[in-house]
Amino acid sequence: MPDLRTNLYDLTREELRLLLVRWGFSPVHAARLWSYLYLGLADSFDAMPELPAKARDRLAAAAGIGMLPTALATDSADGFTRKFLLALPDGERIETVLMRYTGRVTACVSSQVGCAMGCVFCATGQMGYTRHLTPGEIVAQAVHVARALRSPPPIQCQLLVDVVGKTHRGQHGPSGDPTPRLRNVVLMGMGEPLHNYDAVMHAVDILRDPNGLALGAERITLSTVGVVPGILRLAVEKRPLHLAVSLHAATQAERAALVPAAKKWPLDELMAACRTYSEATGRRIFYEWTLIEGQNDSADQARAVGHLLRGLPAQVNLIPLNPTAGYDGTPTRGEAAKRFQKILAEEFDLPSTVRQRRGIDIAAGCGQLAAG
Ligand code: SF4
Repeated sequence: MPDLRTNLYDLTREELRLLLVRWGFSPVHAARLWSYLYLGLADSFDAMPELPAKARDRLAAAAGIGMLPTALATDSADGFTRKFLLALPDGERIETVLMRYTGRVTACVSSQVGCAMGCVFCATGQMGYTRHLTPGEIVAQAVHVARALRSPPPIQCQLLVDVVGKTHRGQHGPSGDPTPRLRNVVLMGMGEPLHNYDAVMHAVDILRDPNGLALGAERITLSTVGVVPGILRLAVEKRPLHLAVSLHAATQAERAALVPAAKKWPLDELMAACRTYSEATGRRIFYEWTLIEGQNDSADQARAVGHLLRGLPAQVNLIPLNPTAGYDGTPTRGEAAKRFQKILAEEFDLPSTVRQRRGIDIAAGCGQLAAG
């Protein structure tokens, strides 16, 4: 039987206030409930003693805290990545990743069960599309990670951070607070976030609320394969988030071979939309480039992306291919990645990074999530 009760994680603070007022409770009770949900990370109404018993009874009857139970949690050998397989109420499953590196704590959250975009090297794309996530199911993943941070890190991580003292200080607050806070969310998990635009933006509003998880504008990054209508809508709405666009190739034919969605939204339309977005928002776009040996990592291809992005506020994120069962390409090796980066920097003055390969041993890397 589906649970027809209201999922409180679906509601913004204002929507929660209106709900409680409609039930005859005061805005003060609504504010307390919100604090219990997002500051206390409460997992039951019984853990909310400052709410009147009458309010708790009403909530228990008509609403639920849409937590997602962990079906499986796996830690990478270095202890810096933890992947959660989470169960949805209808029996579907998604994956969410907690990353504790580069001195930051980040949650990589999913926006759909599966994905319709079919990028050939991506495990989520290989599994096909099942359904959109609700706003509450997206928010619940961030809350899940925030809650996990309250538990001690795995043993290997403790050992490593003790050895690497700098990392230890970076992960914990300047006050030496041993409980790191969730500070960053990347919508780079399973699914194409702009294919589920309304639910994702509703979730972003909840995640950003300054009285809740308080993830600021610089703390949420959305990655798209290039859904042109969504990018144009973001340009109009000027949403305060970072935008990453997966490029992977600098010609239409090469891109369409890797990213089938490019047939629907061709490269020239995508670049026009990116230009519109940057002009409207004044924001730089992160262009992602999965480096596949012999496929898109030549000097000529580096020059092609340089020409394509010339004049745009841009940074290129180079991501050596991560292994998946359904694609047999190999990642570009270190020297070739460095050559690619050098061409972008020296010939086009284009900043770039090469993504650290972390969490690969537990299939938690970019393009590896598959809820399996
Ligand atoms: S890379 Fe992103 S958009 Fe492409 S199939 Fe995977 S999840 Fe979907």
